[in-house]
Amino acid sequence: MIRYLSAPFSRTLRGTAALAAALAILTTASSAHAKLEVVATLPDLASIARDIGGDAVNVTCIGKPNEDPHYVQAKPSFIVTLNKADVLIENGLELEIGWLPALVDQTRNDKIRVGAPGRIVAADGVPLLDIPTEAVTRAMGDVHPGGNPHFSIDPENGKIMAKNIAAGLALADPSHASAYNDNLAKLLARIDAAEADCLKVMAPFKGTKVVTYHKSLTYFCQRFGLVEVGTVEPKPGIPPSASHVTELIALIKNQGVKVILMEPWHERRTPDTVAEQTGAKVVEFPAQVGGDPAITDYPSLCGNIVPRIAAALR
Ligand SMILES: [Zn+2]
Repeated sequence: MIRYLSAPFSRTLRGTAALAAALAILTTASSAHAKLEVVATLPDLASIARDIGGDAVNVTCIGKPNEDPHYVQAKPSFIVTLNKADVLIENGLELEIGWLPALVDQTRNDKIRVGAPGRIVAADGVPLLDIPTEAVTRAMGDVHPGGNPHFSIDPENGKIMAKNIAAGLALADPSHASAYNDNLAKLLARIDAAEADCLKVMAPFKGTKVVTYHKSLTYFCQRFGLVEVGTVEPKPGIPPSASHVTELIALIKNQGVKVILMEPWHERRTPDTVAEQTGAKVVEFPAQVGGDPAITDYPSLCGNIVPRIAAALR
């Protein structure tokens, strides 16, 4: 392109056409480059970032919808993606500790290092549950010292996440701050509407006891009035032992538990065995945006999970 501009026939018609073409390419390239490059660790965060960022951002997501967020398979191509990122959005509370720090270290991009303005932590300001009261040891399983990191499934926390993401995008790209703010307001209204519908559906089941596979529904259960009485895992991230399964079967029978709730990335054998012995139903639900084709964005997440649970409890 530079060669065309300095070529002796640049003033000829052919040169003018070449110049116009070159400028067109430059303009396209610079406007594409003007988009804020956003990388999100998980699908819920990516969805919120797309809704708030609109046309001003280009969002790439690392984790897949039906992949356990603790154990995301990070491909080497993500090092390249992260290297070009202006902003990195993480869940936080060490949910991604198994794979994200190593990936970010290899990118050498100071914009997205921990504590840098380009690093958005969705957990900031979320009222946390399950904060350990004693020093965390390996014997406790995959316990997160800062509190339970599975908060994104509660729409009230979704609104906090959205505010954190909007603020972070505005910091990285002040020229679009008012657009981000407008989009945030629209998204908050949609989350509120979805939450109100879900609360209505769950109202008849207030106080219902449930068992979950992992300690991943604590916030959700609290929001929608369910009582979590046990987990298939004896401790977070620890596979069920025979003795724990025996105890769990007794617990489900004694407490009259009707459902075992689980994400698709856990094994089905244990919950199915427990269900056979107790008459409880296993409800497998998509836990992140995109986990079911109907979950097209964050507001539709609870609207998809809640009816599945309600149907099993009826
Ligand atoms: Zn977990």
